[in-house]
Parts: sequence; C-alpha cells; structure tokens
Amino acid sequence: MKAEELKGEPFKALVDVAQLLREPVGSSRSYCTDEIINEQARASVQGKVTLIHTRQAILVQGKLNVEVEIICSRCLNVFLYPVAFNIEDEFLCTSNTLSSSEEQGDVTISSDNVLDLGEIIRQNTLLNLPMKPLCRPDCAGIKEMSSYGFT
Ligand SMILES: [Zn+2]
Repeated sequence: MKAEELKGEPFKALVDVAQLLREPVGSSRSYCTDEIINEQARASVQGKVTLIHTRQAILVQGKLNVEVEIICSRCLNVFLYPVAFNIEDEFLCTSNTLSSSEEQGDVTISSDNVLDLGEIIRQNTLLNLPMKPLCRPDCAGIKEMSSYGFT
C-alpha cells in the first residue's frame, strides 16, 4: 500500500467477537490477516492475530508485516519498505466498564461485538516508518544533481 493511504481513511480489519465473548475466559481465536483485512490492504499486510477472552476484555496479540510504498528521500524513487511489528491491545467489554474507563482512553468493544483492528495496524505501521527513507543504504541520490557537481 502507499504511505498516503495510511494517513487517510483507516483501512478495516473487522473481527466479530460475539462468539468468543460467550465462551469461557481464557478462550482464544487466531486469524490470518487475509481473513479479516479489507481488500484494499490485503496484499500489503501479512500476519496473524490472536484474540483472547480475558476477564473484562478481549486481548489482541499479533505479529504483522506490512509493505508500504514510500519515496526515497534522496533519489525520490518509490520503493517497498517492509515494516514488522507486534501488537498487543485490549478492548474492554462495555458491560463491565462505565464512563470512567472512557476517560482513560481505553478502547471498548462496540455494541455489535465487532472489533476493528485496522486503526491499530495503521498506527503501528506509521510509527515504524523511517523519517528519511532510503531505497538502499548507499543510495546515490538523483543522478542529474551529481553530474552538476553537487557531490
Ligand atoms: Zn534512493
């Protein structure tokens, strides 16, 4: 995916946890990203997430690889930058939490019992992108510039 896509509308990675919430605490489910992520981002995101039903929440753990098209800061060519990261996030069950938890910025499970992991994936990918990306460590920069004696 392109880096710009990460800054715009978050992509979707929806997981229905209604069944998991009915199962006893400690139950878990694993999903491949292929199963949950929307078509637009599917080819760029690889990995697996595990959802665990804890006492008051759904704990999401995962290991993901995302390929992002970014522009080299030296030669301005577009190249694929692979980002790898782990996620660990909690979605609180609304029935157990009152407004106090919202003030702390915790994420709650919506009333339809569907979690959207897209925002978590998007934020983690952005955090792992370099400030000054280089297509390769020894990128020579723009050819025309060097021939004019800038190097
Ligand atoms: Zn370059």
